[in-house]
Amino acid sequence: MNQAQRRDFFATLKAHNPAPTTELNYSSPFELLIAVILSAQATDVGVNKATDKLYPVANTPEKILALGVDGLKQYIKTIGLFNSKAENVIKTCKILIEQHNSQVPENREALEALPGVGRKTANVILNTVFKHPVIAVDTHIFRLSNRTGLAKGKTVRAVEDKLMKVVPKEYLLDAHHWLILHGRYVCLARKPKCDTCCVTQYCDYYRDQQRRQSRSVS
Ligand code: SF4
Repeated sequence: MNQAQRRDFFATLKAHNPAPTTELNYSSPFELLIAVILSAQATDVGVNKATDKLYPVANTPEKILALGVDGLKQYIKTIGLFNSKAENVIKTCKILIEQHNSQVPENREALEALPGVGRKTANVILNTVFKHPVIAVDTHIFRLSNRTGLAKGKTVRAVEDKLMKVVPKEYLLDAHHWLILHGRYVCLARKPKCDTCCVTQYCDYYRDQQRRQSRSVS
C-alpha cells in the first residue's frame, strides 16, 4: 500500500464510520481504565457484562479498594484471568489514591507503572480519554496492518512505530478505533470478509488474491 492509498484507505473508513469509539462501556476515565485492564485476552462484551454490575456498586478507586480482592472477584469471575486481574485492579486503585489523587494520570510513564497496565492499555487511555494521537496495537490491528500492507512489522511495537510514521496526521486520532473495528468485524483472522469490505481497492492481500485467481482461471 502506498501513501496515497493509505490516505484513501482512512478516508473510506471515516466515510463509513465518522466517529468511531471503544465498545467498552464507561462513564469516567477510571471506569475505562479498569475496563481495559479487565479486557486483556477477553471480549469487550464479556467485560461489559461484568462492569455493568460492578460499576453501579463501585466505580471509584476508593469503592473498588473497599470491595477487596475477594469482593471484586465476585463481579469479574466470568472474565478470563480474573484472579490476577483482581489483584492488579486492587493494587492499581491503591496507587491511584496514594499517588494520583484518585485520578487517572495523563502520562505514559505513570500509566505503565500501574499493575496490569502495559503499553497497549496506556495507549488506549491516552488516545480515548486524553485524545493523544497514539495507536494501541492489539491482535486485530497487528493482523490488519500486516495483511493490507498498511504497516508491516514482525512485532507489535514495530507495527505501532510504522503506523505512527505512515498514518496521515488528520486520521491519527481515530485510527486506533477504525482499525480495531475493521479487524474485529470485517478483516477476520481466519476468513476475512473481503466480499463486503469497503477498502478492497487499497488492500495488498485482496490484490494478491485476485491475481492468484485470475492466474488459475487462465
Ligand atoms: S479486502 Fe479482505 S483482507 Fe483486505 S482489509 Fe478487506 S477484509 Fe481484510
